[in-house]
Amino acid sequence: MAIISIIGRLFRRSIDKTVKDIIYIKIIKTIQVVNLNKGEIMGCKCCSTSNISKDTKVCPLCHSKSEKVGEKTVLSLLKEENYDLVGNQEFYYCNNQDCDLIYFSENTIFYKKDLKITVDDKACFCFDISKEEVEKEGKDKVLDKIKANMKSTGCSCDVKNPSGKCCMNQIEKDY
Ligand SMILES: [Zn+2]
Repeated sequence: MAIISIIGRLFRRSIDKTVKDIIYIKIIKTIQVVNLNKGEIMGCKCCSTSNISKDTKVCPLCHSKSEKVGEKTVLSLLKEENYDLVGNQEFYYCNNQDCDLIYFSENTIFYKKDLKITVDDKACFCFDISKEEVEKEGKDKVLDKIKANMKSTGCSCDVKNPSGKCCMNQIEKDY
């Protein structure tokens, strides 16, 4: 009898644990959804906190509102011959697809042709997903693919995406 009651107690404990796990997972999922709603992407460690930038300037070419971008991003994407022009300046990123300009500071302007990569055809720079693919596959499928890739290999938006930020908010907004 004693053995049965011990087994019974253990069984109950394991059920309790399962219930606790389910509640825990639900809480985590809720937090994730709340964070997504705030515009923060879970799993994107390099840029989750930097998605909302209040530091903006107007692009001197197209007059679009342009957010500040880190030097690390600018240096990672410029062709080597432009490195000397970067200096110790604050750069802003023009996100207008129709504008030829990509980065500007008080004294320096870089155009899309000054970058090592092509910009206008890509939706996700970390995992090389084209805009065409998003149009074909649909945004939800592509976002799921990006999330899965983030989990397995991790992203590096700060050195691959010209904005220095995660592409997911942009994809969410554009499609
Ligand atoms: Zn511009």
